[in-house]
Amino acid sequence: MIRQMRYGTAMLRGGRLDPANLRATVADLRATIEEFGDPGDEASAMLPGGVEPDPEIQRIMADRRLRRTVRDAAAHVPHYRRYFAEAGLDPRHITLDTLATLPPTTKAALRAAPAAFVSDRAEPVLLAQTTGTTGTPTSVWFSRYELELAAALSAMSLLMVSGCRSRHTVMSTISSRATLAKAVVQQALAMVGAGFVAMGTVDPLIILDRLAAPMHLPGKEPQITHLIITASLLGSLVQAAEDDGWLPADFGLREIMVGGEVLSDPLRRRAEAALGARVIDAYSMTETLPTAGLSCEAGHLHLSSEQAHLEIVDPLTGAPALPGEVGGLVVTPYTQYRDTTLLLRYETGDLVRRLPAAESPSCSLSGMPATSRILGRQSGGAPELTTRAVLDVLQAERSVPLPTRYALVEDPAGPLLYVVAPQAPPSLPGRIEERARHLPLAGVVLVEDRDELPLPCPVRADLVEHSFERPAERRRPVRSGR
Ligand SMILES: [Zn+2]
Repeated sequence: MIRQMRYGTAMLRGGRLDPANLRATVADLRATIEEFGDPGDEASAMLPGGVEPDPEIQRIMADRRLRRTVRDAAAHVPHYRRYFAEAGLDPRHITLDTLATLPPTTKAALRAAPAAFVSDRAEPVLLAQTTGTTGTPTSVWFSRYELELAAALSAMSLLMVSGCRSRHTVMSTISSRATLAKAVVQQALAMVGAGFVAMGTVDPLIILDRLAAPMHLPGKEPQITHLIITASLLGSLVQAAEDDGWLPADFGLREIMVGGEVLSDPLRRRAEAALGARVIDAYSMTETLPTAGLSCEAGHLHLSSEQAHLEIVDPLTGAPALPGEVGGLVVTPYTQYRDTTLLLRYETGDLVRRLPAAESPSCSLSGMPATSRILGRQSGGAPELTTRAVLDVLQAERSVPLPTRYALVEDPAGPLLYVVAPQAPPSLPGRIEERARHLPLAGVVLVEDRDELPLPCPVRADLVEHSFERPAERRRPVRSGR
C-alpha cells in the first residue's frame, strides 16, 4: 500500500521513478494474486486506464511531463540542442499548447545519426536495432534504468492484462536479434515466475511441434500457454496448422500476443479457430518504449498516455487530424521513463483514424485515449488503401496463402492490386473484387510467386532463422481413431 502510494507520488511529480520500488510493487501484486486469486481493486487502479482521472488534472500532468522532457532534450541531446540554438527558441516556451510548433523528428533523422539523440547525461548499456522491413535498421540506445522500468511495467501488464501466472510458459518467436524485446520480456516473466522460451523466428512447423510437445516441468502447465508472435509469422503458423490438420486440442495455448505488424480481423479469427487461444493485438515500438497500446473488444486501439504525449497528425499538412480523419501517430516519450535516447514529436509512420466526434467509447479500456487500430501505411495512391484495408480483404480468402503478399501499383485506370496466390481457382479475382468493392481498385492481378510482384513485399516472417532442428517427420499430428 505504502509502496503504491510512493509510486503514485513519484508519478505525479513527474520525476524519476525507483525501479526497485516498482519491482517490489510487482512482487506485492503477485503475492496478492497467488493468495486471493485476483489482484483486487486497488491494483487495477494503478494500471493505466484503470481509473478515469479528472481530465483537467490529466492535462496539467501532461503539460508538466512534457515541459520537463523538452527542457531535458534541449539541454542534453545534441540534435535538439542544435535545433533550439539555431531556431533561437527558448525551450521553456514550449508547452502542451505550443508543442506543435516544433518540427517532428523523422525516422530518417534518427537512422542517420542515432548518437545525436542520446543525452549527454546518459549511461547507454544496450543498443536496440529495429528489424524494420525498410532495410536500414533504426538504432536506439537504452540505459539500465529504462530497461528495469520497462521490465517492471511489462510484468504488471502480464499479471493484470494477460492473466499470466507462475504456472504458465511463454514462447517468443520474435527475431533472436530483437535483444530489447527479449531482455524486457525475460526479466518481466522472471518477476511473474512464469517460464520463458526464446524460440526466435524459426520454421512454423518447428513452432507447431514445440507448442504441441509436453514439457514435464514442476509447477507448470504441461504445454506452452502463451505465444508472442508477429502477425505475418502468425499467418504462416495458421496456414501450416490448417494444412497439416492440427486441432486446437493439440495445444495448451491460452493467449497469443501479436505485435509488430497489422493484424487483420480475419487472421485473428482464423488464428483463434486454428490454435484455440485468445488473440491479443498489442502495439509498441522500440523507439517509444515503454509506451504501449492494446486493442479492446470494441476494435479501438488504446494507448497509454502516462508514458508519452501522443498526437495524430495529418501526414500531408502536419496539422492535427480532425475527428474521424486518418493521421500519423506522433509520440513524445516522457523523460520520466526515458533518459538515454530522447525523442520529441517522433513520427512513427503508423496511421490511425481518430474516432468520430460522436463516438465516446464505453469499452473495458475507456479510461485510456482511443483511436482506430493501426491502419499501417497507405499505398497505390489512394488514402483508403491502407495495409489493414487490403489485409482485411485478402486474409478472408482461404485460397490466398498466408503470409499474405501483395503489391499496389498506380495505373492510369487506378490502383492495381497484385496478389500472390498460386494455383488459385479462376473465380478468385472476382471474389477479391467483390470483397474490395468499398476500395478504389482498378483491378486484381494474381501471380504465382512473390518474385513476380511488381514491388517487393517483405514481412517479418521473412526473418526466418536457420536451425538444425527439423520439424518432426510426421507432417500430420498422430491421432487415435476416436
Ligand atoms: Zn475501446
